[in-house]
Amino acid sequence: MRSILGLASLAMALVVGLPADAADVNVYSARKDALITPLLDQFSKETGIKVNLITGKADALLSRIAAEGAATPADVFITVDAGRLHRARIAGVLDPIKSDIINKRVPANLRDPEGFWIGLTLRARPIFYAKDRVNPSTLTTYEALTDAQWHGKICIRSSGNIYNQSLVASMIATTGIEATENWARGMVNNFARKPTGGDTDQIYAVAAGQCDLAIANTYYYGRLLDSEKKSDRETAEKVGVFWPNQSDRGTHVNVSGAAITKYSKNRDEAIQLLEFMVSDAAQTYYAEINHEYPVVPSASVSTSIKTLGEFTSDTVNLSMLGVYNTDAVKLMDRVGWQ
Ligand code: FE
Repeated sequence: MRSILGLASLAMALVVGLPADAADVNVYSARKDALITPLLDQFSKETGIKVNLITGKADALLSRIAAEGAATPADVFITVDAGRLHRARIAGVLDPIKSDIINKRVPANLRDPEGFWIGLTLRARPIFYAKDRVNPSTLTTYEALTDAQWHGKICIRSSGNIYNQSLVASMIATTGIEATENWARGMVNNFARKPTGGDTDQIYAVAAGQCDLAIANTYYYGRLLDSEKKSDRETAEKVGVFWPNQSDRGTHVNVSGAAITKYSKNRDEAIQLLEFMVSDAAQTYYAEINHEYPVVPSASVSTSIKTLGEFTSDTVNLSMLGVYNTDAVKLMDRVGWQ
């Protein structure tokens, strides 16, 4: 009956030249409104599927989906970190995404091995250095940041931040807990100051001479490059980007991504939305609006982000960031990474 009605409404739509009558999709998003709304509007325009957006903090939205249980209106859950998508999977609130289009377009390491979530944009977490004080030829790997030459010279934000937890988790996945713990201890020993502020503050601190090196996500630097404020652009000018671990596993990357909820009532439309979001045009737009990289290799990168140069990224499956999150948090706590 449902398919007959569906066909009938499709036929009607063809007659009047409008998109087929369709259900709404409800999105719970940890990504800010401004970064996602234009894309959702474009999707609605192309498909006639209305998207209702609720934004908030990832953990709060996840708790809400869990509390709402089978009654949740949420179809799609969007976060800005793979670790949190994994958390949602473990919480049992997701359902695998079944789509050949998505599987073909999104590289395997940027989605859950069993399809519980997919990456939508990619960000890297390289080393930033003071151009006037650091010769980039003295830099090699994350591991080498524990060398004595960097004593008191490194700025990085706190261990409470999931980006650092994910970096440490990626290292646990390749080098094990013991080696990673030794590294983290060496890092703390080389800190220029007690961790404070966000990623942008670390880049500012390098430019201001408070430290020589920092670790931060690429899009924070991209924002400074493209900023309307002259002081931001001057800050970016003083700081260089170094891609670590190019001779071994590659630079640590993470994704903002999406999942479909276990109790989604509009599953087909939700999949349509995700398929739209991995199209070349949507990928280019969605990456560019936050100075990120597309996850789909054929989509283009913004002009300013291109100036950061090409790099090899760590190909560890990003589900590992979630698998080792607890170990990462405990390890950083043990070495006094505040
Ligand atoms: Fe961020």
